[in-house]
Amino acid sequence: MERIVQKYGGTSVGTVERIRKVAQRIKSTYEEDNEVVVVVSARSGVTNDLIARAKSLNPEPVEREMDMLLAVGEQETIALMAMALHALGVPAESRTGAQAGVITDRAHTKARIKRIEGGDIPQLLENGKVVIVAGFQGVNLDGQISTLGRGGSDLSAVALAAGLKADRCQIFTDVEGVFTADPRIVVDAVKLEEISYDEMLELASMGSKVMQARAVEFAKKFGVMFEVRSSFNQKPGTIVKEGVASMEDVLVRGVALDKSQTLLVVSDLPDEPGTAATLFSALAKANILVDMIVQNIGREGKANMTFTIPKDDTRKAEGVVNRVFRDIGGRLTRSTDIAKLSVVGIGMRSHSGVAATLFTTLAAAGVNIQLVSTSEIKISVAIDSDKADLSAQVAHKAFGLETLGP
Ligand code: ASP
Ligand code: MG
Repeated sequence: MERIVQKYGGTSVGTVERIRKVAQRIKSTYEEDNEVVVVVSARSGVTNDLIARAKSLNPEPVEREMDMLLAVGEQETIALMAMALHALGVPAESRTGAQAGVITDRAHTKARIKRIEGGDIPQLLENGKVVIVAGFQGVNLDGQISTLGRGGSDLSAVALAAGLKADRCQIFTDVEGVFTADPRIVVDAVKLEEISYDEMLELASMGSKVMQARAVEFAKKFGVMFEVRSSFNQKPGTIVKEGVASMEDVLVRGVALDKSQTLLVVSDLPDEPGTAATLFSALAKANILVDMIVQNIGREGKANMTFTIPKDDTRKAEGVVNRVFRDIGGRLTRSTDIAKLSVVGIGMRSHSGVAATLFTTLAAAGVNIQLVSTSEIKISVAIDSDKADLSAQVAHKAFGLETLGP
């Protein structure tokens, strides 16, 4: 007998028909003599609808009331799921986040989990019940309903798996697992059998959004191994776990594209201490997330600075830098959409040559590299948006990622 935490996302429980299908799946896991705790999201679209309704009444709703409202979405699905299981003859009971003892801090709409008390879940399991827990919600130290940030049901599942000392944690979703690249762009992309937490986090931050990043961070911190798999078929998914030595034989495990960035080139800045501080403090104050930064060697007392920001903030950023110029001088010489291509792999920690291979490959494909940034397990380059897909395809091939499948 194993204790298994299964999480089903919004698409997987999007209609009554799908809820019925998921209930059948839960039933088979239960009948294989397992203890089963199920975490569910709101039906897909429900949370967005609730937010839209709130904002139509008040553009800046109080966060406490937002949590009160948004918790409704998950509460609907736990009850429906329990009913669907009853109809199949499976004893099941639903629990809200508060009843499951998901204790959070006081930060409404993005609360952090303090601890998992579990409520009466262990007794329910002991009595042969399947327990259905509302994802995304908890209760804070003042007894108020809190929510864990968008996509927070993933975090609920991982945290409950840790708190209940589950043997297995399975995240059922609408994709079959984690792929070496976006299969819509790279036709040779394959599903990975396993990936490390760190690689998964880098890929997630690059827009390959399979799971909430906070959930992966939590899993890493508490050593919760989990599997991401499809709720629509029986195929095994991708195991996400701590990186082990054998995983380092693979230099690059994935290629990701981020097409939502703009590159700004600022020139004629005073080449003196404090310039970068002034410019980037102003951008930070405006809540603009700067990603890659390059400062050129100064000449004749002037310096140039090139950096990337989210495309949606372009107008705002242009306004900010123009205001900074009034104080210290300088001018904005270019502002263009770019794409960021990243190759990710924990094998890079102990091997060299990844950057050289990437640069050579892109050069052969006629792709000009505008900026480079690196971390221990990632190399990112800023390139022309219209070369983005081609770049992902040639990089995927160059690192032989099509061979990483099962
Ligand atoms: N229902 C919440 C959301 O849409 C939580 C989740 O789906 O994980 O963000
Ligand atoms: Mg989700």
